[in-house]
Amino acid sequence: MSTLTLVAPLAGWSTPLDEAPDAVFAGRMLGDGIAIDPTAGRLHAPCDGEVAHVAPSRHALTLRTAGGAEILMHVGIDTVSLGGEGFAVAVAPGATVRSGDLLITFDLDLVARRAPSLLTPVIVTAESGFRIRRRTEGRGVAVGDPLMVIEPQPAAAALAAATAAGEPLSQRAIVGFGHGIHARPAALLAAALRNLAADVRLRARGREANARSTVALMALGAQHGDEIELRASGPDAALALRALAAVLAAESAPAGRRGVRPPDPGTAAVPPVEPAVAAGTTAVPVAGDVLRGVVASAGLGVGRAVQLRRPEIAVAESGAGVAYETAALERARATVRARLERRAAGAADEAGGGAAAEIAVAHLELLEDPEVLGAARAGLAEGRSAGFAWREAVRAAAATLRTLPDPRLRERVDDLLDLETQVLLALAGTAATPAPELPERSIVIARELLPSQLLALDAARVAGLATAAGGATSHVSIIAAAMGIPALVALGPAVLALREGSELVVDAERGVLEVEPPPARLGAALASLAARRERLAAERAAAQGECRLADGTRIEVFANVGSAAEAEAAVRNGAEGCGLLRTEFLFLERESPPDVSEQTAAYQRIADALGGRPLTIRTLDAGGDKPIAYLPQPAEENPALGLRGVRTSLANPPLLRAQLEAILHVRPGEQCRILLPMITEVAEVVAVRALLDELRAQLGMTRAVEVGVMVETPAAALIADRLLQVADFLSIGTNDLTQYTLAMDRLHPLLAPRLDALHPAVLRLIAGAAAAAAERGRMVAVCGGLASEPLAAPILVGLGVHELSAVGAVIPRLKADLSRVTLEQCRALARAALSAADAPAVRALARRACGEAGEGTA
Ligand code: PEP
Ligand code: MG
Repeated sequence: MSTLTLVAPLAGWSTPLDEAPDAVFAGRMLGDGIAIDPTAGRLHAPCDGEVAHVAPSRHALTLRTAGGAEILMHVGIDTVSLGGEGFAVAVAPGATVRSGDLLITFDLDLVARRAPSLLTPVIVTAESGFRIRRRTEGRGVAVGDPLMVIEPQPAAAALAAATAAGEPLSQRAIVGFGHGIHARPAALLAAALRNLAADVRLRARGREANARSTVALMALGAQHGDEIELRASGPDAALALRALAAVLAAESAPAGRRGVRPPDPGTAAVPPVEPAVAAGTTAVPVAGDVLRGVVASAGLGVGRAVQLRRPEIAVAESGAGVAYETAALERARATVRARLERRAAGAADEAGGGAAAEIAVAHLELLEDPEVLGAARAGLAEGRSAGFAWREAVRAAAATLRTLPDPRLRERVDDLLDLETQVLLALAGTAATPAPELPERSIVIARELLPSQLLALDAARVAGLATAAGGATSHVSIIAAAMGIPALVALGPAVLALREGSELVVDAERGVLEVEPPPARLGAALASLAARRERLAAERAAAQGECRLADGTRIEVFANVGSAAEAEAAVRNGAEGCGLLRTEFLFLERESPPDVSEQTAAYQRIADALGGRPLTIRTLDAGGDKPIAYLPQPAEENPALGLRGVRTSLANPPLLRAQLEAILHVRPGEQCRILLPMITEVAEVVAVRALLDELRAQLGMTRAVEVGVMVETPAAALIADRLLQVADFLSIGTNDLTQYTLAMDRLHPLLAPRLDALHPAVLRLIAGAAAAAAERGRMVAVCGGLASEPLAAPILVGLGVHELSAVGAVIPRLKADLSRVTLEQCRALARAALSAADAPAVRALARRACGEAGEGTA
């Protein structure tokens, strides 16, 4: 196959494309490549070719080689918004250029000041049918230095012919998003177009939307399975269609993009409760009344009513001049944008955590929505004040969403109204949504609660939420669940008539709000609440002890960790050791491997954090879905079946030697054991052992070191007996074992729901490996994702597993659940699971068994 070398088109620092602060480039939606951080404002041709396309705003140019490869160079990020300012193009579309010819000059300082980033992606476009074989990353490059070696990709689709610049293009697609085009898909679609110069429209259900407007996209009301038409015109039309198609394809799975299973429907936190809101019921509820609502965040809360009213912010209709009001609106939006960006970036510490961050991202999209902004600017042009124009524009968009039949889209009205309030407060010079002073044990009542209002509340004082309107999938509901606050929504207007301070029970299990319940009921609710709290506290406290089944059988519950901080947190959760230290964290995102002393120091920190508890260090598991740029990896058609795990280590002896030596230096030596990933043959274990013995001899060590084998391939499971002749223990990696047993890529978005480690075929392999270990009196652990599933734990124990290495946070629950079952019960369940038809049948069995064995295991 003929290869082509692309040279650096810019002087600067060459970095992986992942560094580009834009999901379209970093996500490789347009193709693979490299990003260069330029040190000079001159873009040159990376190879001979023809100028296929120049962006009208002069910031991007595509070159097509004689062999058909297309190289897109995009100077900076979001530079389309500069409208060509600072850029000059030295060539015309259709011109033939030689490698090194000047293409574009740009004002480096101006772009640095005005664009979010100077990083310049150099992309081999996905559809031109070429792939990158070698790349130069993580170093300085001069113009003309080799940058990438590319080669034709035999099976790639050649859509290049359809990219005639400026021609309107259209394409049909099916909406794969599980809930149709709601807020998040709309945001993803709009974001995919951010860097492209094209007018893109989506048509569905007889409506048309500007694809850059999340509001307009949501207003289409497109549902899962609908056929939509994508139409694009303008210079980047073809790229825009590809970007949208990539989002639609990548996001069409219901959940779990990286081998993560979607939540088990049987354990869904929100029981289905039909709203039973009596229309027009505004009578003041009296003692003993029960209002039915929808569970938005499960749990039980007892407290006193606090009515929370949204401040109505007065705005004058007429403005003080278009320029003045426009500037005022821009300043207010900038204030809100900065606040949302802070929340999006750093909400992990806040109550509501990741959910708050995600919602902030959605709000940022709405803040920039072109339809809303267009309407607001039209209002300003007609002489309205900034506040009035913004409010009218937001309310018009909200009115459109309210008319849609899909309740999920109607729930986005909250988000719009929240933004209305945030911008109006910023216009009034108020820092943020004012937080009310709450008494202890408040049940917060509102018509609808806005996300920012909820986040501003003192969560420690909120015993529950009860709203007249709202829906179970609204952002407020998601945040409430993340904060652990029981919440009921859609209770109807009666809830707003509740007397301030009335005693309430939010029963967000049954979906009812009890008003001034009789003393006996109140007492029972308080007792139940106390019992729950006690149970949680007890589980956490008990987790500090050894894990034993109800009959006293000892099971070890360890944690998977990737850093000293994680190890400390795991110990606080009751981890009895570390069953899997993924050492890749030390090797990724750098230019060369860590040396012995750096590795020793890192392993020692983790060993110390574990306070003497066992530490299982897995040797580098590079390759497959964990490529490491500086390792000489050959181009592979199928990396998951290529040089990965121990194969990579054995192909790079100095690398393996350094890692083994570093492990041998950790003190106390007895704390560490070594685990080998991706074993398929006895010879691999023998080879590692030989190197280890050589190192031990060099270091004058007489102490034996335990070496274990990861059972991640059907081969390893089937020859576990032979492997145990050369290894000391087994650790089952259910993530890979499932991928290789079911022949389903663990990263495949569409197969994710079926990639279930409780498949009886996987369980049979685990059973075989465990039996081989039992015969030799050896330890067998599970360190894959299945060990973190409470539902699976009794089955694994029943199959003969002695150690579970799980995510730290689930350890208290795992230990508590296991303490309620006997080994005999586990074995009976495992036997039934082995002969079940499929994974859902195994899950059903486990749920039933756990229900019988005690509360809460499922
Ligand atoms: C596994 O495959 O189950 C495993 C624990 O390894 P990783 O997820 O790191 O591939
Ligand atoms: Mg694995």
